[in-house]
Formats: sequence, C-alpha cells, structure tokens
Amino acid sequence: MERTTTAGDLLQLIRAGQVVTRADLQRHTGLSRTAITSRLAALADLGLLTEAESTATGGRPAGRLRFSPGAGLVLAGAIGRSRIQLAVCDLDGTALVSSSHDHEVSAGADAAMQFVGDEFAALLAQLSPGGQDQGRIWGVGLSIPGVVDIDKGASVDSPVLAGWDGIPLAPYLQHVTSAPVVVGSDCQALAVSERDGHLREVRDLLAVKASTGFGLGVVVDGRLVRGHRGGAGEIGHVKVDAAAGLPCRCGDSGCVEAIAAGWALVQQLRARGDDVAHVREVVARAQTGDAEARALLRESARRLGEVLADAVTLLNPEAVVVAGDMGAAFDVYAAGLRESLYSRASALATRDLKLLPATHGERAGLVGCARLALDQVLAPAAIDALLTR
Ligand SMILES: [Zn+2]
Repeated sequence: MERTTTAGDLLQLIRAGQVVTRADLQRHTGLSRTAITSRLAALADLGLLTEAESTATGGRPAGRLRFSPGAGLVLAGAIGRSRIQLAVCDLDGTALVSSSHDHEVSAGADAAMQFVGDEFAALLAQLSPGGQDQGRIWGVGLSIPGVVDIDKGASVDSPVLAGWDGIPLAPYLQHVTSAPVVVGSDCQALAVSERDGHLREVRDLLAVKASTGFGLGVVVDGRLVRGHRGGAGEIGHVKVDAAAGLPCRCGDSGCVEAIAAGWALVQQLRARGDDVAHVREVVARAQTGDAEARALLRESARRLGEVLADAVTLLNPEAVVVAGDMGAAFDVYAAGLRESLYSRASALATRDLKLLPATHGERAGLVGCARLALDQVLAPAAIDALLTR
C-alpha cells in the first residue's frame, strides 16, 4: 500500500515550489479537499505557511501557498582549522546575523566549543535583546574538518583535530538550545551548500576542497553520501605511487596528501629554505603571477586530479566544485585538475563535466551548515513528528 501523503510531504512540495495553490495540491497528491484543509491548518499552526489571497477571475479566490521561513531559526557553525564562522539563519537558510573569528582548533574541543556556544548566545542576543528567539531555534548545523561520526556528532580520528576525537559536540550547546545538532564534515557542508547555489538542480556532484589537506563531498542522486563509517570522501588518503614511503599526517604513508596537499607544499618549500608558514601565502604569490607558485599549485592539482579521476569515472558527476585555500586560485588549480581528469577519467564521464568554483565562496561552509540542519528539521518525517507531539 502506498504511504499517505502527510502534512510534512505537503510542506516539502510547497517549499520546492512544485505547487502553489490548494487545487495544485489536490491534483498533485490525490488527497481530498478536507484532507488538504486539515493538513494545511496544522502547518499554519506551526507558522510554516501563509496563504495570500489572490484575485482570481471568477469563482473562489485561489490563495497562493507560501512557506514562511520566519517560523523558526537554525544556527550554523563552520569550524575550520584556524577560523570559526557562525550565523543565525531563518528556515530558508538566510543568515540574519553572522560573525567570523580567528581561532586555532588545535587548542582542543573544549576551548573551541565553549567559544562557539558563547558566540551563538551573543548572536542571538544581537538578534533579539530580550532573548525571545532562543525558543525559536529548530536545529543546529556544525561542520568540522575530517571524518565525522554522525550518530555521535563527533570527530573521528582526525589528524587535524587533535583532542576532539570521539567528543560529542552537542552538549557544549546545551545552554543555548536543546534543538537537534547535526554535525558534518567541512566537505559535506561544502557539497550541500550548492543546494542553495548555482547547482541546486544538479543531482550528482563532487565538491573537492584543496587546502592544507584534501577532502571530497559526494552527492549522488541528490543525496549526501557519508559512507558506512562517515569516511566517504577521504580522498587525501588514497595511496599513490609517487608518494610511496612519504609519511602522511594521518599516520600512514604514501597518501596523495603527502606530495600534493597544502601542508606538504609548505614542508617542501621550507626544506628549500623558504620560510613560508601557510599554503595561503603560496596562493597569494600565485595570484600575483609568481611562476614558481603557479607551477606548484598546478602540480598539486594534477596529483589530486589523478585520484579525483577515479571518483569521476566511478560516479559520473555532472559537476565538480573546486574550493579551499588552493582552490581559491581557481584558474590555475582547475587547469591542473582538468589535465589529469581528461587524461585519466573515462571519456563519457568527462564529456560535459563542469568544473566550477563554489557558489558561496568563503561562506560556502556556513551556508552548508544551515542546509545540513534544515534538511533534517524540515524533512517530512520531522515535521509530522512535530505535529503529533
Ligand atoms: Zn594520509
């Protein structure tokens, strides 16, 4: 037997813009007028719907149904290696207030997460000095570098986040909200940020982050792929012959990161007497036309592209989004990736493959974190559960 169309399903259709009137809903779902009326009333009670009167010609006025993003709030927190970006967003993912802070995550989960909790509280106070918005928070989306244990909402075994391993992040936000907290990796957040970007119609995409380390966000048939243990997309730790014997920061050796990631480039330059501290400096040089820096980035991209070519051949994405500190030098980095992709991936998979910069640039992580939370709290099952409470 087919599942009945619920209020949550109707909201999904309205948010997607697939239906705009009650008559559309009836046609689309086959539900009776009474069934639709009661479901819409329940959604309106939650503040999720408005129905604007429109002056239809003759007969009953055909009200236009609209999703009300102001019905609640989500908190978004993109926690990077050296920067934390935070925002309070409406239910469309639009940031109402936001902030960005330099912060070294190597100081451990305690320091960073206490900071995140306090800053969320400060942003909420900025939004509503009386504190009336605290109760309107529906969910929280957080991203951290590396692999995430989704069930636990914790970092797993990440070389970047020493002192974070296995520590659930939600309890740190208890003084701010009791709403559900969704934790994803930075690359997963990057990938889903495109749902609010230029690639919203794209069902299959890869989002590659080329920074200090490498990572990949994978979307297949519209769904984020996390993997059995949350480790899908750990592209930086694929072994390549050219890196054989070179130690990697993951504790293993021979990973593509060990010859091509930002940390490895910095190490190579320092070994040659160049006192560069961060790969962003190499990127800045490349952007002012420095030939050596451009060659380094292009070579890094070629190496990464060799591994990415397998992912492209296996998954046949429509687009690859290129982001991260090195990805920010998009022209040179994409050129290097293209070289390997076109020579190593299947002809079919590269025939009309698009390589694009992230729609939201520096804010992609933040947009993606809001999206991670919204996908959970506005899912039909979540809405229906809310209505039966
Ligand atoms: Zn490794």
